[in-house]
Amino acid sequence: MITVSGKAVCAGVAFGPVFVFSREESTIKRYHVENSEDEIERFEQARTQAISELDMLYNKAIGEVGEANAMIFQIHQMMLEDLDYIESIKNIITDQLINAETAVGQTCDNFVQMFRAMDDAYMRERSADVKDVSERLIKILSGRDKGNIIYDNPVIIIADDLAPSETVQFDKEKILAFVTEGGSTNSHTSILARMMNIPAVIGAKGALDPSFNGKTAIADGFTGTLYIDPDEDTISKMTEKKREIEEQTKLLQQLKGQKSITKDGQKIELCANIGNVHDVGAVLNNDAEGIGLFRSEFLYLESNDYPSEDIQFAAYKSVLSQMVNKRVIIRTLDIGADKQVDYFNMPKEENPAMGIRAIRICLTRPDIFKTQLRALYRASVFGRLAIMFPMIASEWEILKVLEIIENVKNELDSEGLAYSKNIELGCMIETPAAAVTSDILAKHLDFFSIGTNDLTQYTLAADRQNPDIGEFCDSHHVAVLRFINMVIQNAHANGTWVGICGELGSDITLTETFLAMGIDELSVTPSAILPIRKKVTETDVSAIKDIVLKNI
Ligand code: PEP
Ligand code: MG
Repeated sequence: MITVSGKAVCAGVAFGPVFVFSREESTIKRYHVENSEDEIERFEQARTQAISELDMLYNKAIGEVGEANAMIFQIHQMMLEDLDYIESIKNIITDQLINAETAVGQTCDNFVQMFRAMDDAYMRERSADVKDVSERLIKILSGRDKGNIIYDNPVIIIADDLAPSETVQFDKEKILAFVTEGGSTNSHTSILARMMNIPAVIGAKGALDPSFNGKTAIADGFTGTLYIDPDEDTISKMTEKKREIEEQTKLLQQLKGQKSITKDGQKIELCANIGNVHDVGAVLNNDAEGIGLFRSEFLYLESNDYPSEDIQFAAYKSVLSQMVNKRVIIRTLDIGADKQVDYFNMPKEENPAMGIRAIRICLTRPDIFKTQLRALYRASVFGRLAIMFPMIASEWEILKVLEIIENVKNELDSEGLAYSKNIELGCMIETPAAAVTSDILAKHLDFFSIGTNDLTQYTLAADRQNPDIGEFCDSHHVAVLRFINMVIQNAHANGTWVGICGELGSDITLTETFLAMGIDELSVTPSAILPIRKKVTETDVSAIKDIVLKNI
């Protein structure tokens, strides 16, 4: 048995085979070829293989997602039959005597530019398909498709680190646990693991050993340990641990349908954080009282091009209708920092966490923002929508946002499109500037939601992504807790309610403190709802208030 230790970021125990995830080399190697005919033949073989792969995918998709959605694979096949596309690749090989991968890459870039310049929105979206088809060809040509169908059965994934865009691409049903050598507690990958309720271990140095591939392992998301080829004793201890967790989970089920109210009658709302439409199942299963944070940027991360107004509308409508009349707070896109999206073509920044991210993108590229706002407003008639804005630092940003919203509403009015007149508007408090001026911001807004992940990193000048930062990025730091308290008091003095949607909201050791401060809502990972409800119902705020607030 080999034991690898790291840091636990999502509790749970997983048994299963290991899959060592190695990132594909994405750069294309350009090289000279002597014989263009042989190279064209190699391209033709790859093209035939790609067409037959797409055929298989089409047949599989019909059964799983229906004919309309499966059509995309037929469109890709048609692109591979397109004479202009084929001719361009062959000409580049013949004229420049270079390898087929490079010729496909160059043709792809030209076609993508051509599609993107078109007026018709449908044609513009086809640029993503050209990219997809070309990548398939390049993978086949460079032999990178071997072993690319990475796993058929559920596995424990081991990786050096995972970007949020990679994590969202995994088939969630097939992941038993995540183990990474890098990572940090509040990185978006850890947050995603918690959202999926999948045991996760980060900072597990030595885990990324290719010889572990396929071996049996146990990942312990309580202690942050990975056991490769576990011995009998470890198997029986871990089996017992898993049984205990299942029992506790069963006991917590009794709290479903109950109110989140303290012994002395203080009520809070316990809501859930989600990243996409599929997470709503877990929200309802865990009896959340609403959605306190829908990280809408995952719609952008999961897509190869800007999601259209209609695609966004369908996603927001689906979440709102499933939640019936429970409040759903959708956060406008928070792209930037670790959540990079290629097609945004953002200039490279020295310091992306402090650069053009979130609301700063929306205010500098209002077209993108307006598309999202239109989709949100149109969807608002299907439920109880609230909208919030990330990374606010100044009052003028809120005023500008409100002005853009007025424009959007006027547009919708003139087009005769309906929207709700009762949408609550709020902002995230995740910069020290917003916390300190929360009394000013409160005058313009219905609510605040405190983003403790960013608030901690900006307050303590400690990068939340840095795996080595350890105790320097301490969300329990008195400065962070004082900010939270200050925001709650400022908001209440101005008739605004306050929630916490950062990871600290799920920290049960602070539930009493937040109740003593007078928090109105906590939005947490779905699996944390019932344990926190238990804590709330066991708390007598009047009895603990002075003690827990003594040093804040
Ligand atoms: C936060 O910063 O606390 C937050 C909830 O937003 P995100 O983690 O998506 O940056
Ligand atoms: Mg944030």
